[in-house]
Amino acid sequence: MTREEFLVAGRRPEEDDTAAVSRALADSFAVTRLSDAINWARKYSFFSYPFVTACCGMEFMAVSGARFDLDRFGLSLPRFTPRQADLMMVVGTITHRQAPILLRVYEQMAEPKWVMSFGACTSSGGPYNNYAVVQGIDTIIPVDIYVPGCPPHPEAVIDGLLKLQERVQRERPGVPYRGRHGSGRPLEG
Ligand code: SF4
Repeated sequence: MTREEFLVAGRRPEEDDTAAVSRALADSFAVTRLSDAINWARKYSFFSYPFVTACCGMEFMAVSGARFDLDRFGLSLPRFTPRQADLMMVVGTITHRQAPILLRVYEQMAEPKWVMSFGACTSSGGPYNNYAVVQGIDTIIPVDIYVPGCPPHPEAVIDGLLKLQERVQRERPGVPYRGRHGSGRPLEG
């Protein structure tokens, strides 16, 4: 339809051309910033890499099942290669022996990428305050969101996911991201 045909067909008697076009486009047109649109797409299209090591894995399976339906939040397909994932979910106890592997996998993920620390063990070592267990993965890699619990309830995981989505929506190109914790220090030795 040409502009002239549209105006003849769609214009009301009291309207001028501009008013007719504005009314016709009102519900079908949205204006936003490019960064907002990109962040909106990113937060609803996480591809997770589950780095699952211990008993929190059972709760990860529970929250990934049909009952809690993570598809609602755009977190649907886990990817078992870091090169196709942008959300690393570290689930379970991380020992010092596993730490270099965790770091290697993290480094293989392309930017932008985010990390969820799933449960007490990944966040602080949990009940294992000993020489074998990493006392928080944020000593190895940066963490964007911590989900508390031993193990966390599925609702807590969903809450963490929603908070992470809020942060991703607020990210701005070229502006340092303030929601990230941990030094991500290189491993010693
Ligand atoms: S936080 Fe609790 S449930 Fe999760 S891996 Fe550690 S001990 Fe197991």
